[in-house]
Amino acid sequence: MMCSNCTNYMPPVDSQQGEFWDDGSVNQQRDNALHVHLTGGYGMFVDDWETGPLEVLICHDCAVKLFKLFPAFQEFANGGHPTEDRNNPCCEHAW
Ligand SMILES: [Zn+2]
Ligand SMILES: [Zn+2]
Repeated sequence: MMCSNCTNYMPPVDSQQGEFWDDGSVNQQRDNALHVHLTGGYGMFVDDWETGPLEVLICHDCAVKLFKLFPAFQEFANGGHPTEDRNNPCCEHAW
């Protein structure tokens, strides 16, 4: 599965599981990805009455960019994700 923003490949968290679940649906559980739902309503920035919310999955690096651009979202990233090298973490949200 590719990042909805930059189109980089995002590997499944469980490589044994692969790209799809046993029922054939897409495995959206991707390594360090962020699931984002954007929605609106009547009189709002976007009225998504007919289109529904936008659901995207973005990669780790795009999630870091999102949190830098909108610091209010960083609260959600507290306790983010594990890193392989605690002395050299991938971002400020890693533990
Ligand atoms: Zn990306
Ligand atoms: Zn990170």
